[in-house]
Amino acid sequence: MSKESKSSSALVMKFGGTSVGSPKAIEHIIEIARKCRQEWSRIVIVTSAMAGVTNLLVESAERAIVGDEVFISKAEIELQNKHYSIVEKLVPSSAERAQLKQEIKHLSMEFANLCRAISILGEATPRALDAVVSLGERLSVRLLAGILKSAGFPAQFVETTNIVVTDDCFQAAHPNLEETAKNVQNILIPMLMLKQIPVLTGFIGATKEGITTTLGRGGGDYSAAIIGAALPADEVWIWTDVSGVMTADPRIVEDARTIPELNYREMAELSYFGAKVLHPKAVRPVVEVGIPVRICNTFKPEDEGTRVTKNNEAAPKIKNGARGIVKAVTAIQDQRLITVEGRGMLGVPGVAARTFGAVAATGTSVPLITQASSEQSISFSVPNESAEAVLDSLHIAFATELARRDIDRVWATDEVAIITAVGNGLQHTPGVAGQIFSALGSADVNILAIAQGSSKVAISLIVTAKDTEKAIHTLHQFITG
Ligand code: ADP
Ligand code: ASP
Ligand code: MG
Repeated sequence: MSKESKSSSALVMKFGGTSVGSPKAIEHIIEIARKCRQEWSRIVIVTSAMAGVTNLLVESAERAIVGDEVFISKAEIELQNKHYSIVEKLVPSSAERAQLKQEIKHLSMEFANLCRAISILGEATPRALDAVVSLGERLSVRLLAGILKSAGFPAQFVETTNIVVTDDCFQAAHPNLEETAKNVQNILIPMLMLKQIPVLTGFIGATKEGITTTLGRGGGDYSAAIIGAALPADEVWIWTDVSGVMTADPRIVEDARTIPELNYREMAELSYFGAKVLHPKAVRPVVEVGIPVRICNTFKPEDEGTRVTKNNEAAPKIKNGARGIVKAVTAIQDQRLITVEGRGMLGVPGVAARTFGAVAATGTSVPLITQASSEQSISFSVPNESAEAVLDSLHIAFATELARRDIDRVWATDEVAIITAVGNGLQHTPGVAGQIFSALGSADVNILAIAQGSSKVAISLIVTAKDTEKAIHTLHQFITG
């Protein structure tokens, strides 16, 4: 993975929560930065909040709504101490230490003030929530830049509220790539020309009016991709706590292996269908500019990790079916499968449009849809916590059809999981689906629904929650065994 130092080579590196979560982790970052500086002429760093901090901020805002002042005070101290303890260990100069601690204190107070305001109001708008949760990255960016500076790097923190321009869809804001690219040219490029290392907040942006927004949980990867595309960088590296994208979630499958290479499509499907290692939205900006992405392990920087490129987009010709084709298995858990069914549905105009209109009205996202060819039923999965609201909305939308028995029922299963097998060429290789089903059949896993076709590189199956791990282990064994 080493790279000849070219006069203009640019690398964007993003460090996730665990990568900035402890003194040991940050020592690794210092070593990584040292090595990369020899090999790349321009480096931009994007950081997440320290591990656990965003969760703490979210919980604090929720507790503030119900007036839990004690929780807020404790969280303020926890926030401060978490960052102080890293400063104590990694910043030798007392003047620099004092300066950093002052900034941490200031932001922790901002946190407590915001939470107290929420507590007085008894409610938090999405905008207020973003103001609170953005504090994790606003803290970590100062911490990381300060430590790098103290280790001798020309690091300078930058809040991406000045760079990433978004709409006002708080909590899951959409970036305006053109406006963002202008800011990158105006702010980051001059810094890079001065040989500085900009250290940026992941996850956050701001509206045109300058109101802070966030890009959605796990959005630090997305930030790195956006910045990488805007520079444009030669590569984007995502540093995390595992050695790349693996054949299955290593928390579920102990012997999961690193996949050395993936193409953009495979990566997009994997992340969309549950491989948390990369945010699903992070693929698109880099695909458009054709920037290779590498996913690697902060704690084992010598591991090559996974390279994601446009290579192998053409389907490979492999004869032995699933074993050679399927690269990984993923799961989205805590779902329920909702079905709208009835013999009279054929005659009802716009059933699909009205179904998904009713779902959309509840603000629910639908990861998977299947439809019987006779159009007598439509099934789709929704997150467990949205299922009741979706059912209510559908019952209202189809009240007339239900009364007339054109639609017989609208119902939801118990908890299910979406299991997805991903691999380029899946759709063009005869027998793959059959092999997958018989492997699951032999393991006594009942498949409730199937979706194949929307993507050329993935097959998704719905199984009951209790069969989730068995299904993953069976398929993993099948593809790697
Ligand atoms: P970060 O904080 O660095 O962004 P995340 O927790 O968001 O890290 O993502 C890394 C985690 O993703 C890993 O620790 C792993 O548990 C999980 N994960 C789920 N599926 C996969 C997979 N297929 N390959 C690698 N990691 C996966
Ligand atoms: N800190 C944010 C989160 O925990 C963003 C990220 O880590 O990517 O969701
Ligand atoms: Mg992440």
